[in-house]
Amino acid sequence: MTIADMSKYKRILLKISGEVLMGPLDHGLDNDTMERIASEVKEVHEKGFEICLVVGGGNIYRGVNGAKNHGIDRATSDYIGMLATVMNALALQSILEGMGVDTRVISAIKMNTICEPYIRRRAMSHMSKGYVVIFAGGSGSPFFTTDTAAALRASEMKCDLLLKGTKVDGVYSADPFKDKSAIHYGTLTYRKVLTDKLNVMDMPAIALASENKLPVAVFQITDPGCLMKTLKGESKFTLIDGE
Ligand code: UDP
Repeated sequence: MTIADMSKYKRILLKISGEVLMGPLDHGLDNDTMERIASEVKEVHEKGFEICLVVGGGNIYRGVNGAKNHGIDRATSDYIGMLATVMNALALQSILEGMGVDTRVISAIKMNTICEPYIRRRAMSHMSKGYVVIFAGGSGSPFFTTDTAAALRASEMKCDLLLKGTKVDGVYSADPFKDKSAIHYGTLTYRKVLTDKLNVMDMPAIALASENKLPVAVFQITDPGCLMKTLKGESKFTLIDGE
């Protein structure tokens, strides 16, 4: 069990990858998973957390694959990937709104007919008013990932905590699916993640979190109820913080 005082975290950013949203499918969106994740977001929102989301797009398109498999110029391919994140954000918005949660989708790439453009102060204002803000379009720049966009937006929104949902309950010394002797880390420093090249988020994301002293909790989003349990410090997860 991670020993950490989680009660100090009030404004949080949850990074949801496209892979999580596809649940057991091999592509696209899984209805049950979308509804479960939306209901977990609703639960923490109702408990008084200010919550924003950064949504990935890997369930639909990844820039690197488009470049490798289809000969698409990498930057263009990354823009296609960013569009995929907007699709996921709109789908998640619709489900959350259907559950009575007020949301705003804000895209780093302007698409004014379907969502708001990214204006930092407006996004901050939405959060203060209690809207669940869903950030789409990643960072708006190619060659980055939505993990880095999550660290960027969390820093800009002055979030107390970035939550990265994965298939496992935290960070291990090796892949726990392949190596039974892999050790689970309860806490980690940014430096250890970077120097040991631990597979958590990509390096720019961790470097940005470190620079801005943004704690990162890596938890098992595939485990129902885990978001709230992590925020209460009641489940197994990894907290990355400190020098
Ligand atoms: N992407 C990008 N810049 C960003 C964020 C995302 O170019 O700031 C593109 C990139 O091509 C990436 C795709 O969008 O492959 C989907 O994002 P990501 O792979 O991070 O999604 P996830 O793995 O979280 O589903």
